[in-house]
Amino acid sequence: MLSYRHAFHAGNHADMLKHFVLYLTLDYFNRKDKPYWYIDTHSGAGLYDLRGNEAQKVGEYKQGIALLQQAAKLPPGLHDFLGRLNAILPEPHLYCGSPWLAQAMLRPADKLRLFELHPADFQHLQHNMQQARLGRRGQVVQADGYQGLIALLPPPTRRAVVLIDPPYEEKQDYERVVHTLKEAQKRFAQGCYLVWYPCLSREESRKLPAQLQKIAPDNYLQAELHVQRPRSDGFGMHGSGMFIINPPYLLAQQLQESLPALAALLAQDDGARFVLDFQIK
Ligand code: SAM
Repeated sequence: MLSYRHAFHAGNHADMLKHFVLYLTLDYFNRKDKPYWYIDTHSGAGLYDLRGNEAQKVGEYKQGIALLQQAAKLPPGLHDFLGRLNAILPEPHLYCGSPWLAQAMLRPADKLRLFELHPADFQHLQHNMQQARLGRRGQVVQADGYQGLIALLPPPTRRAVVLIDPPYEEKQDYERVVHTLKEAQKRFAQGCYLVWYPCLSREESRKLPAQLQKIAPDNYLQAELHVQRPRSDGFGMHGSGMFIINPPYLLAQQLQESLPALAALLAQDDGARFVLDFQIK
């Protein structure tokens, strides 16, 4: 069942953490000349209109990208991130999805492989990637991203950034993320895997980080951004996390410099905080 539409959530606090980490990771990969692949297992539509009905319904972006744009002062990492977003967005009322950010950052020799299952969002993604002149740099595929990823590994370049960003509306996403990462590790252990996950009261969500740590106990980074206290009724997403296997060398330091400011900026109550934990060989 595909009920999730990212257009309702584009530019929210979770996108800020996810896209900031993705930006830092791709920026790091661009420091070496050797080409790499970017694989997005759950791509979404690629580009979102913040003036559209979906984004306006709850207005989640007002507690995300809008707060970054209104900030009087940002630490250098977040300042550069915002500058990059402003430079790559075709119009100020648009916000990027992960594929748009990635296509703008990848070099001509790098390759993109984008998976999206939802028929309408797949069409939007195709259209947006045509606008971006993706051409031979990339492929947009309407298929299951978990299976699609495994079929691509190892990539010919032996260098890759993989984003796994499911909706987690169904319990099976938690199991499939863990299973897929285990399989991916067997085929391509040196890949840089970025997994987004929601911080919810439900058990599967609370257990996921520990399960992910077991997959790569010696080489991971976990960053969480909590924007509010967990609700007493147990509902709602009070924050989100990024779990990275084989994180870029500089990422821990970069996040240490920026997460305090990001947590303060996006705070919705006095429960706002961040978590940064890593183990790097
Ligand atoms: N990564 C995007 C970004 O940062 O802009 C947002 C992706 S959104 C959270 C998750 C997307 O995954 C939705 O568009 C949904 O239709 C799609 N989806 C759900 N299950 C999928 C699957 N098994 N394979 C590929 N896409 C899937």
